[in-house]
Amino acid sequence: MTMIKRKTRDVISELVLAQAQGVHVSAQELQEQASKLGTNVSLSTVYRVLEQLKDRGLVSSIISNKGHLWEAAGKEDPHDHIICTRCGITKEFTDALVSGFGRTVAERKGFIFQGSRFDIFGFCSSCKHAQDQVLISALEEIITDARLLIQDSDKLLSAPQESYTAADNRLRLAREQTRKALEKIDQAIRILE
Ligand SMILES: [Zn+2]
Ligand SMILES: [Zn+2]
Repeated sequence: MTMIKRKTRDVISELVLAQAQGVHVSAQELQEQASKLGTNVSLSTVYRVLEQLKDRGLVSSIISNKGHLWEAAGKEDPHDHIICTRCGITKEFTDALVSGFGRTVAERKGFIFQGSRFDIFGFCSSCKHAQDQVLISALEEIITDARLLIQDSDKLLSAPQESYTAADNRLRLAREQTRKALEKIDQAIRILE
């Protein structure tokens, strides 16, 4: 392992420690910020500096859909994170229920409680809305298809009388279209479940 130049290490530490409260940065963002300050550093070096800072308890990380995000540790009151796995928005919160939970579990396991980290993953309200829209469009498409199939089948069944063979053929086709329509409806039901 090559030694990280003191200046490089200082630039990265200062950058991560200077982020505003509630801001969680990726290693790549730190690399870009360092480069704007005239310090060109490889991403792997940024990671190594961050790991060293983490070992010293100066920074902490959370996992998001963008990978690890970093923030200064211990500067503010301990907090937990709720992270959207779709857009990556990260919100901080403190909740007595969560810290109480950590303390209770620690004590039950015979530990002295020192702290806890709780990351909650989910879809934020705008991503949930976007996801719902995707589902609604899919359902609309399936229902339209089913409707067309049933219309088709209805047309086949209400055609004027003709020879026995032709009528038999129409019935077979109508049955086929009805079966396809039922498959579509089943597909819609599975989406809704
Ligand atoms: Zn945070
Ligand atoms: Zn989101």
